[in-house]
Amino acid sequence: MAALNGAVENGQPDRKVLPLPLRSLEVKYTKIFINNEWHESTSGKKFPTYNPSTLEKICDIEEGDKPDVDNAVEAAKAAFQRGAPWRQMDALSRGQLLHKLADLLERDRVILATLETMDTGKPFLQAYFIDLEGCIKTLRYYAGWADKIQGRTIPVDENFVCFTRHEPMGVCGAITPWNFPLLMLIWKMAPALCCGNTLVIKPAEQTPLTSLYIGSLIKEVGFPPGVVNIVPGYGPTAGAAISTHHSIDKIAFTGSTKVGKLIKEAASKSNLKRVTLELGGKNPCIVCADADLDLAVECAHQGVFFNQGQCCTAASRVFVEEQIYPEFVKRSVEYAKKRLVGDPFDARTEQGPQIDQKQFDKILELIESGKKEGAKLECGGLAIEDRGLFIKPTVFSDVTDNMRIAKEEIFGPVQPIMKFKSIEEVIRRANSTEYGLTAAVFTKNLDRALTLASALQSGTVWINCYNALYAQAPFGGFKMSGNGRELGEYALAEYTEVKTVTIKLSQKSP
Ligand code: NAP
Ligand code: MG
Repeated sequence: MAALNGAVENGQPDRKVLPLPLRSLEVKYTKIFINNEWHESTSGKKFPTYNPSTLEKICDIEEGDKPDVDNAVEAAKAAFQRGAPWRQMDALSRGQLLHKLADLLERDRVILATLETMDTGKPFLQAYFIDLEGCIKTLRYYAGWADKIQGRTIPVDENFVCFTRHEPMGVCGAITPWNFPLLMLIWKMAPALCCGNTLVIKPAEQTPLTSLYIGSLIKEVGFPPGVVNIVPGYGPTAGAAISTHHSIDKIAFTGSTKVGKLIKEAASKSNLKRVTLELGGKNPCIVCADADLDLAVECAHQGVFFNQGQCCTAASRVFVEEQIYPEFVKRSVEYAKKRLVGDPFDARTEQGPQIDQKQFDKILELIESGKKEGAKLECGGLAIEDRGLFIKPTVFSDVTDNMRIAKEEIFGPVQPIMKFKSIEEVIRRANSTEYGLTAAVFTKNLDRALTLASALQSGTVWINCYNALYAQAPFGGFKMSGNGRELGEYALAEYTEVKTVTIKLSQKSP
């Protein structure tokens, strides 16, 4: 797998240069971050965060709710006021602050990767080489944009001068998921700040630790108070307080389609705040008979099993042309059986636990449905006994489009493999889903590659690669996979309002 933000080639990060994780790291930041200060929750309540690989509680976190969100929004509004230091700052200096934040992520990379592994159970190797690499590159990419967000001069008639300004929107809400807690935060924070907005952030309840650590770095970098505020808490309370808030001008969300719909509804019922949504996917991965089979098998494997299968980009519908189907299945099973599942802090580990009991149960239930509906279980299909939330890498063959494992987002280590006969057929089947996030194609035939790239209804099409994500290339979904785009130049439009200024020249001779 070419990796997220190009950090790792072919899924083979160099384990020899991986630093040691900080196994006895003490968690320092557990409170609500508003105005560059740490606060207890208004209600006095706290909630626990767990380590999913040991099922032990890591610590308690202050539980934010509506009053805390209100305080955070007040701080963010004040920081956005005309004349406030953030508004007066030269755009180039905003870029310098983002570069400085990236420097601190580099300095504290081991701490952040350790916290991410503790809280999510993802392998430390991945947290360090992929998640953190992606964060640092995204910050640097948008640091460079801060002073280059330009409007245009529009030709009208000679009596008028007309130009546009790309202005920050105001207070932006960010609601993030647990699968890439820090990366999804930075995908929102970097463009929002580079455009001059202020932020109120709610991390997922399962994984607040790295987002809170970022609060300490925001302060250390010297962002003015109120520019970034972080309110940990639950979705239906703190999250809903953000999505319904009348003084929040824009909201960026990554998570389930179900909650994405709630957020859009809340936006339309409150103040019509702008909304970008990055939701689920049931992503087709199409392997043609002429493909480089070694490459296709490895990419399809990494594409679905990466991050314990908990990826919106997961290759969870693999379509293989019938001539090579038996060989593809055989090799995919060999890969899955070799996948090392275990302690995420062990550098050899490729797969850790699922995030929580709810997701674990959902995945096992979907695996059972695959067995019942007649798919052939090639390997896995069960939890790993006595080991909490770990699931064996699972491969199903003889999967048909009507089965639940071919239709629903599994978000777990399950690879459903289907057969196809013709390109027209696979286009129709690949597109017959309500989702449209990513698609991948493996072929050496240029005509086929480009025909599929044009016909597939998805925000991203990878040809002969998988999860090749770059800070400079836009990412987002067609259909119910979302609205708007993150990353790249396209994301700037999601964090700015365009203002048209039209000036009438005096008709008198000057
Ligand atoms: P989720 O509920 O959509 O969680 C994502 C974020 O939304 C969390 O911060 C969550 O808060 C918050 N949230 C929940 N209800 C909310 C509400 N009413 N208003 C505002 N914010 C709200 O996802 P999940 O339940 O953890 O996972 C369920 C499924 O979603 C997964 O099986 C997977 O299919 C999909 N998912 C997709 C992605 C992705 O990358 N696109 C990421 C995660 C999950 P809490 O932390 O309190 O829940
Ligand atoms: Mg946790």
